[in-house]
Amino acid sequence: MSYDTNNIFARILRGEIPCTKVYEDDHVLAFNDINPQAPVHILVIPKGAYVSWTDFAAGASDAEMAALTRAAGRVAEAAGLAEGGYRVLCNTGADGGQEVDHLHLHVIGGRPLGRMLPRA
Ligand code: 5GP
Repeated sequence: MSYDTNNIFARILRGEIPCTKVYEDDHVLAFNDINPQAPVHILVIPKGAYVSWTDFAAGASDAEMAALTRAAGRVAEAAGLAEGGYRVLCNTGADGGQEVDHLHLHVIGGRPLGRMLPRA
């Protein structure tokens, strides 16, 4: 899939749509999810134009990968989740339930999250 420069997160990165920013550096932006699934629900996205985890894993630089990983840990810690625990989730593609085609990590916590997936 080619990258759609008008996806919602590309528009947030360009400042065309507002977000509640919780972290930013040269490679990463993190902001609160508009429809939180838990008391803390933060989206951590690369600034680069990557459709998905697959795309990012194949094409991102080491610096971009390190920045995304560190940012996810950093926002979780800043949100007070490190001690109690949390979940980092990356929905990928149709079967993965990805709705926005710009790579994003969900950092979710603030309550017991239960099983990762419902039993089939
Ligand atoms: P996905 O299902 O692609 O893994 O997750 C997309 C996430 O983006 C959803 O949790 C959804 O609530 C969030 N989202 C969609 N549109 C917006 C928006 O305009 N602003 C913010 N902050 N989050 C959004």
